[in-house]
Amino acid sequence: MPTIPINIVTGTLQPKEIIVGIDLGTTNSLIAFVHPDSKQPVVLKEYGEQSLVPSIIHIDSSGTTLVGDQALPYLQNDTKHTLFSIKRLMGKSYTDLKGYLSFFSYQLVETKEQTAVQVQVYDKRYTPIELSSFILKELKTRAEHILKMSVSKAVITVPAYFNDAQRQATRDAGALAGLEVLRIVNEPTAASLAYGIGLNPQDEKLLAVYDFGGGTFDITILSISNGIFEVLSTNGDTFLGGDDIDKAVVDYWMKGLGDFQSQIKKDSNLSSQLRLIAEEAKKKLSVEEQFSVHWMSHKLTLNSLELARLAEPILQKTLDCCTRALEDAKIDISSLTDILMVGGSTRMPFVKNKVASFFNRSVNDSINPDEAVALGAAIQADILAGNNKDLLLLDVTPLSLGIETMGGLMEVLIPRNSKIPIKVAKQFTTHKDGQSDMRISVFQGERDLVEDNRKLGEFLLKGIPAMPAGLPKVEITLLLNADGILQVSAQELRSGVQHQIAIKPQLGLTDTAVEDMLQAGFDSAKQDKEMRALVEAKTEAHSMITLTEQFIKKNSNLLDAVEITNTQQAIANLQEAIAKNNKQVIQQKTNQLNDISKPYAERIMNIAIKQSLEGKKI
Ligand code: ADP
Ligand code: MG
Repeated sequence: MPTIPINIVTGTLQPKEIIVGIDLGTTNSLIAFVHPDSKQPVVLKEYGEQSLVPSIIHIDSSGTTLVGDQALPYLQNDTKHTLFSIKRLMGKSYTDLKGYLSFFSYQLVETKEQTAVQVQVYDKRYTPIELSSFILKELKTRAEHILKMSVSKAVITVPAYFNDAQRQATRDAGALAGLEVLRIVNEPTAASLAYGIGLNPQDEKLLAVYDFGGGTFDITILSISNGIFEVLSTNGDTFLGGDDIDKAVVDYWMKGLGDFQSQIKKDSNLSSQLRLIAEEAKKKLSVEEQFSVHWMSHKLTLNSLELARLAEPILQKTLDCCTRALEDAKIDISSLTDILMVGGSTRMPFVKNKVASFFNRSVNDSINPDEAVALGAAIQADILAGNNKDLLLLDVTPLSLGIETMGGLMEVLIPRNSKIPIKVAKQFTTHKDGQSDMRISVFQGERDLVEDNRKLGEFLLKGIPAMPAGLPKVEITLLLNADGILQVSAQELRSGVQHQIAIKPQLGLTDTAVEDMLQAGFDSAKQDKEMRALVEAKTEAHSMITLTEQFIKKNSNLLDAVEITNTQQAIANLQEAIAKNNKQVIQQKTNQLNDISKPYAERIMNIAIKQSLEGKKI
């Protein structure tokens, strides 16, 4: 007999399942869902008010963790064991973070180059994945508490510039928290959905999503057409946010504190108290004109004009990023259809005004800026739950994906900006007789030589049956799924031997590295083309030499001495040319070797053909 689930607390019919949307932020995280009755996205609020969960974790000497509001007080009195900005660590190695050590008041463990960074708290070490999972677990528990049902599936958002490693780390954190992550969605895409932009497949839009959070600033130019969300460009600063405005306020106040200054500087608890008061002042001034408070027998005051002046240089930096993003996307401000305001820091009235005048139009700020991303994630979750069947959201891959071929060349299988999910297969072959193994190395980037790109992973296709070079047909397939996670498989088609891997890189690029890699690709296009031509000429020359040497060895009894010495001389000339790296000379010497060997090669071939025909007669 079918059972009908009833929520015993509310007395209403229980929906079969709710997939939640999660904004896992650097400063704040939150969880939202589409209400089964109203069909509207709502953020979950504990006790009806607080929706933001500060992305902060406190760990005590026994390893007990506190997350969110409960951890907040420890930021002031136990800075070494209170972890913030975990998102900055996702998919990173210690080396990636070396330049920013002073930013973290907790201890990062120096690990080996190719391994993920770890955080040391007392005698325990934690990976960023584990730490993020603590935040996600807290969100999950909250949701279950409020919804009175178990929550096991989620959509989680990440910045548009997150690479495979960072996306995978986010996904893993979800799994560790007991969540099946159905989709990783770009934050600007989610914000756009929250504004209802792109929900109609007929929408043709060109958006600028201005996301100014606590510690990061992101600007994304997003084109929406035929239900496809395409990131045209991203720019920003991963160390620029509302925190910097708080710091500017602190510095401003410090000047008026005389001798007390040095005491504050020495005492990390006092300085974080002052930072929190600065943040409080900043938030107040988003709705009021004047702020004042007494602290440690000093009076601290700030008005909105002073705040705007202090924030001006920080704001200007965000606008410079916007200029660059527009240049990269090669679009004019006038062709933008909407400017979306996202992130808590866009609540400041002078930020809105500045951005509006930069883009020369009014901005969309009707949705709570710190909820927009979570609400959009909830809409995506609802679509995946099958509640909105007409919609299919697609993203694109920001960097090309390919494999290494002879001479260290990059063979692109999935070009950048391809819509994902995407699957591409291509055939390759061996270059040595009897070659039984083939190394398949996967790279990401825009340069022609793999050494200039980023290696994602590699594997060995083993057990190819012995065949002459060029005969095996190895089909390599790249499948990039909707989360931007890559599956690579290789199969030798004649024998069926196969191997496959899912690329789960342990660490990632620095946040700006994707942009840098794109830029490097553009900058070096001409040089790369020449390099590719040289490598191809060398590869051809090498195989010509190998073939000729094999041929001579096999048929020495059919060649005369002059033919052999001439050939050996031509081979030596070609080897010399290869060593000198001159493409023209290599090609010339390859042709000369070909010219010398061709007549006798043809003669011997004819003999062979004749013999085989005679053989048939018998
Ligand atoms: P993130 O996406 O980085 O996790 P949020 O979007 O939640 O961060 O933004 C957090 C930042 O927004 C903090 O620097 C906070 O001080 C700032 N903020 C929140 N509310 C206000 C407000 N009313 N006025 C000014 N700044 C605010
Ligand atoms: Mg955010």
